[in-house]
Amino acid sequence: MGEGTPLGPKRLLALSINPNFERYSRQILFAGIGEQGQRRLQASSAVILGCGAIGASAVQLLARAGVGRLRVIDRDFVEPSNLQRQALFDESDAREALPKAVAAERKLRQLNSAIEIDGLVSDVTPGNVAELLNGFDLILDGTDNFETRFLLNDFAVQAGRPWIYAAAVGSYGLSFTIRPEITACLACLLETPDAGPMLEETCDTIGVLGPVVSLVASFEAAEALKILSGQPEALHGRLLSGDVWNGRLQSIAVSRNPQCRACVRREYLYLKGQLQPHITMCGRDSVQIHERRRSLDLASLGEKLSATGLAVKTNDFLLKLAVPPYEMTIFEDGRAIVKGSTDPVVARSLYARYIGA
Ligand SMILES: [Zn+2]
Repeated sequence: MGEGTPLGPKRLLALSINPNFERYSRQILFAGIGEQGQRRLQASSAVILGCGAIGASAVQLLARAGVGRLRVIDRDFVEPSNLQRQALFDESDAREALPKAVAAERKLRQLNSAIEIDGLVSDVTPGNVAELLNGFDLILDGTDNFETRFLLNDFAVQAGRPWIYAAAVGSYGLSFTIRPEITACLACLLETPDAGPMLEETCDTIGVLGPVVSLVASFEAAEALKILSGQPEALHGRLLSGDVWNGRLQSIAVSRNPQCRACVRREYLYLKGQLQPHITMCGRDSVQIHERRRSLDLASLGEKLSATGLAVKTNDFLLKLAVPPYEMTIFEDGRAIVKGSTDPVVARSLYARYIGA
């Protein structure tokens, strides 16, 4: 390119002093982002609550896009049945039963070493939601249950923070961006009599396809890029849904409920913990005990349990204990997931027997 050549977009990129701009050049060339949008992305932050299928796919898009600070929060560990759709994890993560937050942090660092990433192995509760989610520009939903989503909604509405709802089951998925005071909130959308079926089906009962996860995570990540690059006017404000099996796509307007419990009456029942049980179902024929905030010495617990002849497997983050027909996974913070039962009484009794009160 000679001296007299007009400055086209490529020439402008070549002139950029920041080497990051080459890395993000295809995104900067996109008119909706541009150089200013890219700078804003790099100065922005997002927290992903739940790093299963949708969370993992969405957060890897944001890491690649150069969002400056990302936090991934997840309470679970990688299992072989996750690999069919959870894009950040591989067979070695499942073999080691690594916590998803730890595996995700490692993978994301490989994708983009220039951004700040932290993975937290934690269960979000009314008691810690503010501590875990405060200080981020945007919250992304990667959860797999409505109890946590309603807690997130209560927090976000009260704090005036935007968040993006995303869910998938079977071959169907949807996403909706929630901006408190501007759009409807999750309670406007779902705390209605006809929302029943949406709340009942789960991936553990009717399965879920990988492609719908990618579709919904893409809806979610695109909305995130608009917010984080400082272009809220580009948000479409609609609930997008799609079924990758029958090919139906829908975009519908959602209005605020003038009687909404959360965004109008400001009754934050989930935030107050009034609707939070101490033991929750967490899919896969499992229950979780999660009210205990104590720290366990997993190494010495592992030795103690092995000495009694039980099959114990540990890594730096968790301990797995086989008590046929059950399997317990115990985390450092005292939380436990009991697989093989949906009965809270069984879960409590196993916990008391092997971990202690
Ligand atoms: Zn509302």
